[in-house]
Order: sequence, then structure tokens, then C-alpha cells
Amino acid sequence: MSEMGESRTVIQARGVEKSYGLDGVNTVHVLRGVDLTISRGETVSIVGSSGSGKSTLLHILGGLDLATKGDVLVHGVPFASMRESQICEMRNREIGFVYQFHHLLVEFTAIENVLMPLMIRGKVTEEDRDKGVSLLSRVGLEHRLDHLPSELSGGERQRVAIARALVTDPSCVLADEPTGNLDKSSAKSFMNLVFDLNKDLKTSVVLVTHDHELANMAHRSLLLDDGLLHDR
Ligand code: ADP
Ligand code: MG
Repeated sequence: MSEMGESRTVIQARGVEKSYGLDGVNTVHVLRGVDLTISRGETVSIVGSSGSGKSTLLHILGGLDLATKGDVLVHGVPFASMRESQICEMRNREIGFVYQFHHLLVEFTAIENVLMPLMIRGKVTEEDRDKGVSLLSRVGLEHRLDHLPSELSGGERQRVAIARALVTDPSCVLADEPTGNLDKSSAKSFMNLVFDLNKDLKTSVVLVTHDHELANMAHRSLLLDDGLLHDR
């Protein structure tokens, strides 16, 4: 394990503000000073009405977008201090993303999709492949390794997506309404799986969801309202 993996705080947002359209007339202040600390092994859910800025916040936590003001630190290092290439590397190494729509590559099989974050880094070894297979087994898809996304159910695709998010051993998984497209029972079993993986692997999870029952399964649940996070 790298020395980075030892720190207790994985991601920290300090006074994060995000505004759109600052140069025009339709200025929107989406985030107005968000403070959030994600500790190692912790699960945090975020609920909020549509348009409240949940996706914006997750993108900023994951370095996909930059804050207008304030800062996000990953293992104590602020994104603002990194070059674009360093942000990409940090993202690839420390953070896994899961979206509402699986974002799997349609022409690649389940195992190829899971290995994609490692392929992006360079050559995929036999060991990497074993790891991908073992993750797909862990999510109950050992019999679906060579299936294309189109040959999988919605719940199975999301399980491939979580295996892909975990293949790099990230410190934190950021999940943006990962069950938004699933029926109630698939949603619940998917979230049970995610929380089991969290217990086994100690990977922190930030879950954005509309579903208050699923949100309550996390260690800590927050409400994003009027650009600020509140306990709920
Ligand atoms: P949520 O995920 O909670 O539904 P979003 O983070 O997607 O909300 O969006 C929050 C607000 O920011 C919305 O009002 C949306 O219209 C606005 N917004 C998001 N992205 C952009 C953008 N690139 N340019 C302008 N406004 C945006
Ligand atoms: Mg959203």
C-alpha cells in the first residue's frame, strides 16, 4: 500500500462554491460553500431535489470539474495545485465512478470493460485479468465474463460498472444515482452489494440518490439544499 493510503481523510471539500454563467446574465450559484470530509472506509449518502447540484458536487469531488471557489483535497493534495495530467492520474488511481447510466463501452465484454481503467494505464497483466475475473465473481457475474452490455440486464450492467470502478483499488467510489434506472428490488440488492464491498474492501463510498430508504443505508446521510449540505 502507498503511504497515501494510510491517511484517514480520503477526500475533503473546503468551502466549495460553483457558479455557472458568471460572464453572462443567467448566473446560477449551484454550490455556495460546501464543506465535506470523507473518511477512509466511510459511506456517505447525499439526497437533494433535482437540480440541487448533486452531480455538480460529485464531479468536483472527483476532479472532473473545478470549483469556482474553495478547494477539494484528495489525500491532502488540492486539485487546484495539480496539473491536468496529475488530476487525471489521481482520478484513475484514487477514485472510481458509477453513473445512473452504466457508461459501459458497448462493443466490449464485461471483463474488458472492468479492465478498461487498467488498460488506460498501460499493459494489462495476467494478474490484472485474474483480478477483474475475481471482482466480477464477487458481484455474482462469473458466468457473464464475455457478455456484451446489450446481453446483460440493467442490474447486471451496474454490477459490471461497480466492478470496473473498483479494479484500480480506489480510495473512494463516487456513485451518481447508480440505481436511478433500476426497479426497486434490483436497486436494493445493488446497494446491498455496494455496502458489502465497502465492508470487505474499506473503499469509501459517496452515494447520490433520490431514494431516502437507500440513503439511510449509508453510515451518514446529508441533504444538499440551497447550495449547502445539511445533516438529515
Ligand atoms: P442534480 O444532479 O442535483 O440534479 P446538477 O448538479 O446536475 O443537479 O445541476 C445543478 C444546477 O446547475 C442545475 O440548475 C443545472 O441547470 C445547472 N448546471 C449544471 N451544469 C451546468 C452547466 N454546464 N452550465 C450551466 N448550468 C449548469
Ligand atoms: Mg444529477
